[in-house]
Amino acid sequence: MRNFPIIAFILLLGSLCVTTNSNAQQALSQDEIYAQRMSYYYEFESPIVPWYYIAAIDQYERNIQAVRKDIATREGIISIQFPSHFWSGPLNPSAQDTAPSTIAYFAGNGQDGNNDGVADPAQDADVLRTLINYLHQAHATAGTFQAALEEYYENDQIINQIHVIAGVYKKYNTVALAERAFPIPVRANYSYKGTWGASRGWGGRRTHEGTDLFASYGTPVHSTSYGAIEVMGWNDYGGWRIGIRDVNNTYHYYAHLSSFHPDLAIGDIVGPGTVIGYVGSSGYGKEGTSGKFPPHLHYGMYKFDGRNEWAFDPFPSLLIWERQAKKGD
Ligand SMILES: [Zn+2]
Repeated sequence: MRNFPIIAFILLLGSLCVTTNSNAQQALSQDEIYAQRMSYYYEFESPIVPWYYIAAIDQYERNIQAVRKDIATREGIISIQFPSHFWSGPLNPSAQDTAPSTIAYFAGNGQDGNNDGVADPAQDADVLRTLINYLHQAHATAGTFQAALEEYYENDQIINQIHVIAGVYKKYNTVALAERAFPIPVRANYSYKGTWGASRGWGGRRTHEGTDLFASYGTPVHSTSYGAIEVMGWNDYGGWRIGIRDVNNTYHYYAHLSSFHPDLAIGDIVGPGTVIGYVGSSGYGKEGTSGKFPPHLHYGMYKFDGRNEWAFDPFPSLLIWERQAKKGD
C-alpha cells in the first residue's frame, strides 16, 4: 500500500505519454475528417470557385497520391500540393521561402491563408488560399473557370475527372460519400469467383479484366459507387455496357446487359444501389447480338492515376461489398 502513490504516479506518467503520442497522430474518425474538409471548403469558396470544385481538386490530388510512387503524399486534412518553384517563384533563390513579401517579389504563388504572417505550404489554409488565388488570376486572364482549370492542369482527362467529382459532390451536397453497394441484389441467385488474369472470359476491354457475376436474365444491376455515367451503348465485345466514373478516380465497367434502366443517360449522376440495367448475355458480335454465352454481369474496375488508366482486380472489393450488403439485408 505504501508504494501505491508511486505506482499511481508511474501509471499517470505512462498514460500521459500515451495521450501525447495519440494526439500527435491526430486519430480523427472519417466523419471528423469529412467535417473538417467541408468547413475548409466553405471558408475558402468564392463565386468563381464554388466549394465542390475546391473539394474535387483536393480529392483528385488525394486519389493520385494514393497510387503514384513518383509523387509525395501530403500530410494534413487537405491533399493539394504544389512544386516548390510554383510556391516560392521561379527565380527565388530560396525554394522553401515562406515570407509573403519575397514570394510576391519573385512572382511566386504561395499565399498566407490563415493570417499568421507566413505562406507555408505545410499549412492547409495557406494551400487553399494559394489555389483559389491562382484560379482567380487565371480566371481574370483566361475568361472562364474552365479555361482557368485548363491552365492549371493542361490535361483533358484530369479536367474530366475533376468535373465528375465536383458534379457528384454538388448533387449530394457533401464529400461524405464512402458508401458502396454490391452490383447484384444479394437475395438473388448469383455466383462469382476470383478469376483475375484468366485467359478465358467474355468481353473485358482487352483480355479478361474483371469479375464475371453469373445470374439470371433480367436480374437488376446496381451501381457500386457514386459517380457519373460516362459511357452507355453498344460495344462489340461488351454488348450493352455502362461505364461510370467515381470520386476515387475509378472507372466502373458493367457489360453484357440485356437492357439499360430507361431513365438513365450519359452524364447522369448515380449512387451506390442505383439500378443501371439488367443482367443479359449481349455482346461478342454486331449490335444486338445475344446468347453466345451464359447470362452474367462482367464487372471491371480501372484506376486513373493522372497519366494512365489501368485495370485492377474487382474481386476483393466485391467480397467486402457483398458482406456489407448481407449484414444490412
Ligand atoms: Zn467477364
